[in-house]
Amino acid sequence: MHSGAERVLRYEGKAKRVYRTGTPGECVIEFTDAATAFNGERKGEISDKGRINCATTSIFMAMLEEHGVPTHVIRQLSETELLARDVEIVPLEVVVRNIAAGSFTRRLGVPEGTPLSRPIVEFSYKRDDLGDPLLTRSHIEVLDLAPADVVAELEVRALRINELLRSHMVDRGVTLVDFKLEFGHTADGELVLADEISPDTCRFWDTATGDKLDKDLFRHDLGDATPAYQLLLDRLGATGVPA
Ligand code: UDP
Repeated sequence: MHSGAERVLRYEGKAKRVYRTGTPGECVIEFTDAATAFNGERKGEISDKGRINCATTSIFMAMLEEHGVPTHVIRQLSETELLARDVEIVPLEVVVRNIAAGSFTRRLGVPEGTPLSRPIVEFSYKRDDLGDPLLTRSHIEVLDLAPADVVAELEVRALRINELLRSHMVDRGVTLVDFKLEFGHTADGELVLADEISPDTCRFWDTATGDKLDKDLFRHDLGDATPAYQLLLDRLGATGVPA
């Protein structure tokens, strides 16, 4: 890990570790090579993924900030670490879909690759022990997971982020199929985009070839995911860790 001020592990997720720093309101997020799929049933590693996803997230978050979307990222600290604002995560996974894939195809019988007539926003309960179940707005309200105005705002932000990511990727020959977002509140109550944006959390298809450039390669054992993750980063025009 990056040397420097004392850090205390605050949370260890499936692909990231979050550390407290000496500064209140800030944390360090370390991206690892660990990969899981199907709610942890399939476990492994995608070599070099920590570096690639850290850089990819850093680029996407900076692009979104430039377009007025507040995020938790402050700056990249090292090849595998971001400095971020500390947030209390809203316990909802916000999924946006442009094209049918994954659980949408499994649940609804729509063939993979079917374009959707408009982007869909779905909410799931961020609960690994329950397998992140899909939620209706009534579920969210009755279970008191988030106030209605926050849910409405999450949908507006998710759709705006979709438009920004989609057009950014179109220009780079990549189709944005679907993705998952997480949001959180900072100590002063600001709602910001949190977590990561990477091939672990998005489906990206090479527009020209249809090749998958995301975690589906790992999920379905379709070959080495590292070159695909790297290709995606290359398309973003990464130039390395900022000094
Ligand atoms: N996703 C994610 N974390 C999750 C579930 C989904 O990052 O816990 C992402 C996934 O990579 C895809 C999108 O959200 O880009 C939609 O996933 P889907 O519901 O199709 O689930 P999956 O096929 O992963 O079971």
